[in-house]
Formats: sequence, structure tokens, C-alpha cells
Amino acid sequence: MLLRSYKITRTLPCLADPMKIRVIAEVSEEIQEVFPYLNAVLKGCIYNHPANTLTIRKDQKLITLHSLHITLAKIEDENEAEGLLQWLEDLINETYESRAKIEPNYSMAAELKALDIFKLLPGANCKKCGEPTCLAFAVKVVGRDIEITKCDPLFSEKYQEKRKVLGELLHAAGYAIPNHPFMSER
Ligand code: SF4
Repeated sequence: MLLRSYKITRTLPCLADPMKIRVIAEVSEEIQEVFPYLNAVLKGCIYNHPANTLTIRKDQKLITLHSLHITLAKIEDENEAEGLLQWLEDLINETYESRAKIEPNYSMAAELKALDIFKLLPGANCKKCGEPTCLAFAVKVVGRDIEITKCDPLFSEKYQEKRKVLGELLHAAGYAIPNHPFMSER
């Protein structure tokens, strides 16, 4: 067994959607050893080996595993968070126990798609970034042709939750995160 317990330490409001929350849970042991094995068995996760993060999508939720904590975004309530954390604990321990039969995958694997970015943008098509649409902007962000900070509306309080998820996604996919206080804040 790798992970013996977890504890929810922070529950934050989701400003983009007042019906949802963001949850941070600390884990009792360092769990990064299992990341390359989870990266091998799960589809569509993003592994950032140097940063020791693994981002998993499950039912529209974005789950990021760090060495000593887990963040869950777009969560309905603490019950849902508990269910996801229990699922993660089982997944981590089962994968860890089977690791001798799994070829670890250290690659970043899932490539970040423009649609992944687009879904987290304001969607206003306001052209303030200099692009005709949010989708065109997302394509350029993925191609590293424009910085995410060019989307002014994204940095309003209303989009704080989306911005944080976007920051994690970009970070997990190996993109440089602009040194913007609102992008990195947790
Ligand atoms: S500034 Fe942001 S919201 Fe406006 S078009 Fe560009 S990406 Fe979309």
C-alpha cells in the first residue's frame, strides 16, 4: 500500500459557478512514485515528470495529483470530493501494487488540445486578445504563439476558478506559466 489516508484541508468556492467547489486534500505519504504507472494505465492524463504532477480528467472534473496533495476542481460538494478521493486512493494503491507488471510511462503523453483551452476561456469572442474568436485564441495558445495573459477578461474575478484550472492544465502540459499572481494563486 502506498497511500494510507488523505484529508480534505481546504474547500474553496468556485467563483465561475457558485454551485461548485474546489477541494484540496493532503495525502499521508508521498505518492509521486506511482505517477508513471498511472500515466501508463490511464487514458488522457497529463504527466509532468520534472514537476511531479499528474492531471487526470474524470467526468468533467479535473484532478491534479502532486507529491503530497491532490486538487479537485469543478466539484459539486464534499460528498462528491470524498467519493473521488476514495476512488483515487483505491486506484493509486491498486496501481502501485501491480507496478511490477506495468511498463512505466514517463512521457508527457496527452497533448494539450485547443479545445481543452477553449472550454476554460470566457467564450465572449470579444477580440480583446487580438484574435477573432476565443477558439482562434486557444489555437494560438496551444501553438505557443500567444500568451494566455492576452485574454484580459480571463483575469476578472468572475473567471478565477477557470483561470486556476487553466493554469494547472498548462503547467501540467509543460507550458510556461506566465508570472501572473492570479494565475498561480491557489
Ligand atoms: S480576449 Fe479572451 S474572451 Fe475575448 S476573444 Fe480573446 S480569448 Fe475570447
